[in-house]
Amino acid sequence: MLEERKNNYIMSIYKAGIYYGISICDISTGEFYSAEIKDNYNFPMLLDEIARYSPSELVINSMLADCIEEISKIKERFENVYITKFNDKFFINESNNLDLRFTIVDNNGNKIEDLKNRQLSVISINALIEYIEETQKTNLDHINKITIYNISKYMALDLNSRKNLEITEKMRDKSKKGTLLWVLDKTSTSMGGRLLRRWISDPLIDVLEINRRLDAVKELKENIILRGDIIDNLKKVYDIERLAGKMAYGNANARDMVTLKSSLKKLPEVKSILSNCKCKLLKKLYSNLDELQDIYELIEKAIVDDPPMTIKEGGIIKLGYDDEIDKLKTAQIEGKNWLVQLEADEKEKTGIKNLKVGFNKVFGYYLEVTKSYLNQVPDRFIRKQTLTNAERYITEELKNLENQILGSEEKVMNLEYNAFINIRDEISKNITRLQTTSEVISILDVIASFAKVAEDMNYCKPEVNSMGAIDIKGGRHPVIEKILGEGSFVENDTYLNKEENRLAIITGPNMAGKSTYMRQVALITLMAQCGSFVPATEAKIGVVDKIFTRVGASDDLSMGQSTFMVEMMEVATILKEATSNSLVILDEIGRGTSTYDGLSIAWAVAEYIADKEKCGAKTLFATHYHELTELENKLDGIKNYSIAVKEKGEDIIFLRKIITGGTDESYGIHVARLAGVPKDVTQKANEILRSLERKNILTGKQQEKQSKRQVEGQFDLYNYKLAEIAHEIDKINLNELTPIDALNTLVKIKEKIK
Ligand code: ADP
Ligand code: MG
Repeated sequence: MLEERKNNYIMSIYKAGIYYGISICDISTGEFYSAEIKDNYNFPMLLDEIARYSPSELVINSMLADCIEEISKIKERFENVYITKFNDKFFINESNNLDLRFTIVDNNGNKIEDLKNRQLSVISINALIEYIEETQKTNLDHINKITIYNISKYMALDLNSRKNLEITEKMRDKSKKGTLLWVLDKTSTSMGGRLLRRWISDPLIDVLEINRRLDAVKELKENIILRGDIIDNLKKVYDIERLAGKMAYGNANARDMVTLKSSLKKLPEVKSILSNCKCKLLKKLYSNLDELQDIYELIEKAIVDDPPMTIKEGGIIKLGYDDEIDKLKTAQIEGKNWLVQLEADEKEKTGIKNLKVGFNKVFGYYLEVTKSYLNQVPDRFIRKQTLTNAERYITEELKNLENQILGSEEKVMNLEYNAFINIRDEISKNITRLQTTSEVISILDVIASFAKVAEDMNYCKPEVNSMGAIDIKGGRHPVIEKILGEGSFVENDTYLNKEENRLAIITGPNMAGKSTYMRQVALITLMAQCGSFVPATEAKIGVVDKIFTRVGASDDLSMGQSTFMVEMMEVATILKEATSNSLVILDEIGRGTSTYDGLSIAWAVAEYIADKEKCGAKTLFATHYHELTELENKLDGIKNYSIAVKEKGEDIIFLRKIITGGTDESYGIHVARLAGVPKDVTQKANEILRSLERKNILTGKQQEKQSKRQVEGQFDLYNYKLAEIAHEIDKINLNELTPIDALNTLVKIKEKIK
């Protein structure tokens, strides 16, 4: 009942102080990963890893279970995850067994020889295996490879960015439509669908590996015939990965085998198509693709083309596969012929014209004679059953035939069942080969899907390097572009680097397109690092190590109470974790509090990020605080941009073009008019605005005074306290005061002053 295009993961977490060892397995496909988290900000990293897999169940040790703060954060973020506290005695540091049972490899598929300094991983692996074996109580032979990955192989994408960028699900309703996955997923198989989801959830940071993917996409994009052939064949390939899992798991039936067979049938053709490919990745797929024709032939020879669901009632094995089964089956068929013969013989002997042989489960075979012929029934007929208008009989001869036929039927069922189990075991023995092939098919599928989307949507191949600059010409937002339809989306350029163009302050009225623009830059970067082509005419992407996005509280619909607090916590995380290699998107932060607070926070945050010593991340910062545009002149690395609008009489037209320079017009009233707010209101608003502006000009000084009075006000309060204390001192009658009382009074007064 699993969703085909989504993995179903279980994850174990071993918490040891501030470190974690995690292991992740999908039992249905046999994938098994493990990693260690022993860096600076471990708990957020743990949350990010949970987000990467979104497992259905967590198996944890007691130290984590007892850590109420962490558990409640996990529960809060992953509402649907099922958490099991597992006995600590299963979290053991014992690697000999693992070495024997599994091939343990690193990110690049190289064998890991020494597990000594991978204790955290080893312990979490042991616990997860124990847990799976204990709960599943079956064979887990298809789990044979464990990848211990280095977390930094992938771009760090925290949970918020995954949500905000709507990579695999929409913020509002968690649906797939309208996400990046929705645009990019044109895979033909469910295996490919799962891998594509994983690739875009885990963008790479290794320039070489990214370019290997991009070259493969390029080859399939340019060679339309090649791509067409591949897609046509992949369409007929079913979920080999899960079928292999079912075989090893011992719950595959004969229909699964036929499905597997028809998938395997396509492999030689896929292989021969791949033999023409030129790029490195596709060549590697070619050499790794095992055609598995021995397994294909085994199934083809043994299993009938349309077997039943059950495996215990025969009808599975083809004639010619097994002599014993053949013999018994022939006997069965002959037996049926004998019955026909017996019916004819008895008709002739007795002269009963409508005598017929029948069968039911309770009485077995019988001869049926209708009431009108009863007087012709001979003595050798033994009565078995009486019906309203017929009698049923058995004869010695029929009894013998019955034994032969039914006996052989049961034998055949048993033999067929045994033969089936043997075949299934034989296939299970080849599980690694099946998995290797399914991996090849998945990768090929994703590459072909990227190529097709690149062609259909007119994407370009990004130049991915490690130069640290992001230079996009004619960039588009992949999702909005697709929703708006061809030609409606306005392209924009972007230039960010580690020097003079680190931080872009983007101003512009509501609805101008600021959020869209910033997300588009993040998505293009992310897509490039997944190995996909990107919606732009030209793109040079310096690999980023992390992407952060933070949307201001009042813009963030998914948040509930205390949104400002949440917003600030996330800003705090970004400031702590962003590096000069990161990409940061800040969308109207500081909006959740009063104007002056908000402006001050936004200002200070911008200053901090722009400071190379402290952070220096490439940043896009949209804000409605026009004051921030002053930063351009004050600090290095900051540039002002705005999104152009054109005034036309009373109206404004959104041009959607990003231009250099800030704007201090907010056009709020124009937008209100566009939105259909009644004319009376917008006119009145205009009048108020004008009068406010006038006052501001006239009373430029007045404002200053006002703020001064605020300060004075504060002093007033202080003075009031002092007056109170003076009054108390004044009340004291020194003649009645003992030295102790005097001391006590003095303590009280000091307390008050504090
Ligand atoms: P802002 O953040 O400035 O308020 P948004 O980014 O939310 O504005 O954009 C508002 C709407 O404008 C989007 O929903 C989208 O439909 C449209 N839009 C934004 N950018 C573009 C563009 N480059 N081309 C066409 N339509 C756009
Ligand atoms: Mg916005």
